[in-house]
Amino acid sequence: MAEESKAPSAPAESAAPVSEGRSSHRPGPRGPRPGGGPGGPGGPREGGRKYFRRKKVCKFCVEKIESINYKDVRLLAQFVAESGKIVPRRLTGVCTPHQRRLSGAIKQARNIALLPFAGRAN
Ligand SMILES: [Zn+2]
Repeated sequence: MAEESKAPSAPAESAAPVSEGRSSHRPGPRGPRPGGGPGGPGGPREGGRKYFRRKKVCKFCVEKIESINYKDVRLLAQFVAESGKIVPRRLTGVCTPHQRRLSGAIKQARNIALLPFAGRAN
């Protein structure tokens, strides 16, 4: 009846005004957790992998190296990070028995100054 009483300011609202109808009772897929913390154990996952990993196979098993020579610096250096730390098995894929020998060899090599205890400390 009173068609002209409505202001022609928002003519596009006639489609679906659901946005503010029942927003108060909607749980949603990830609603606010009751008493939950700010983030949770998930955390932001960003794909910034520094160590590019290939197949996860133990290099020593593949090459059938049973005893790791501590004098083989070129070999050991592959498993020492730039900071001087031994790269963990997770990243290198070395199996546990070999990682043990490897870490032992690296420590021996450190002792005779073939490998650094710490990287370049400027
Ligand atoms: Zn192995």
